[in-house]
Amino acid sequence: MSVSRLRSGAEPSLSPGPRYFREGVPVLGIARDLTGQWAVATGAGPVIADRVVISAGLWTKGLLRGLGVDGSMEAGKGYSITSPGCGVAPRHAMKLIESNIACTPFEGGLRISGGFELGPVDGEPRARPLRRIVRHAARYLQDWRPGRNQLLLAGFRPATPDSLPIIGPVPGAGGVFTSSGHGTLGLTLAPATADALVPAVLHGTTQTGLAPFSVRRFARSRR
Ligand SMILES: Cc1cc2nc3c(=O)[nH]c(=O)nc-3n(C[C@H](O)[C@H](O)[C@H](O)COP(=O)(O)OP(=O)(O)OC[C@H]3O[C@@H](n4cnc5c(N)ncnc54)[C@H](O)[C@@H]3O)c2cc1C
Repeated sequence: MSVSRLRSGAEPSLSPGPRYFREGVPVLGIARDLTGQWAVATGAGPVIADRVVISAGLWTKGLLRGLGVDGSMEAGKGYSITSPGCGVAPRHAMKLIESNIACTPFEGGLRISGGFELGPVDGEPRARPLRRIVRHAARYLQDWRPGRNQLLLAGFRPATPDSLPIIGPVPGAGGVFTSSGHGTLGLTLAPATADALVPAVLHGTTQTGLAPFSVRRFARSRR
């Protein structure tokens, strides 16, 4: 997904009032300040807030740990290759079920993605799994092949032990919420997750439907 498209699509839907996107600014930690508000320490100074949603993918785990909460998650590394390529490219997104590979038209070319590796969090797009993805996709495509102009990427899916996301209030940290752990389906589930979480964040409503997704389940399973 293109970040600029996401941003321009989201802007008109945001309610009026102070709001801003800050890109490239790391969140270093979250702690209560002396007034009882949340101070989000960032690389560009603190941000004070009464409510905070932690939605940092795999790295949510570290921010939760800073609040004394276990947010069990592992990195499910996957790969993609994007290329204008040559041959007949699909005009629609397709899931190639037997090979667990997805194809989607992307910015003038085709993106093929797949693979799921549990292991170290290194950003290396390794050649072997990328070749495998292209080889498997070729079985389904008429004659499309990637050209020399290629964008190779590796990404980390935030994968939980029970494959359920972590959505809802963070225990012991009133006003802090989490929305993460969506594993292989984060893009698909993001709108529904946001819809489910908004009443809790904005109105303090207890969402019973979110109970199965509570981060508390990891604490329970260790007893
Ligand atoms: C190859 C591949 C193919 C996929 N295909 C699909 C698909 O077809 N359909 C689908 O639904 N899902 C798919 N997914 C899964 C989907 O990409 C993830 O589920 C989704 O990206 C998770 O979203 P997220 O926002 O929780 O985490 P992320 O996308 O990982 O975003 C987290 C963001 O937080 C930032 N961040 C982390 N720590 C900090 C910090 N301390 N301070 C500031 N920022 C921080 C990171 O830089 C990142 O930008 C695929 C994933 C991969 C790897």
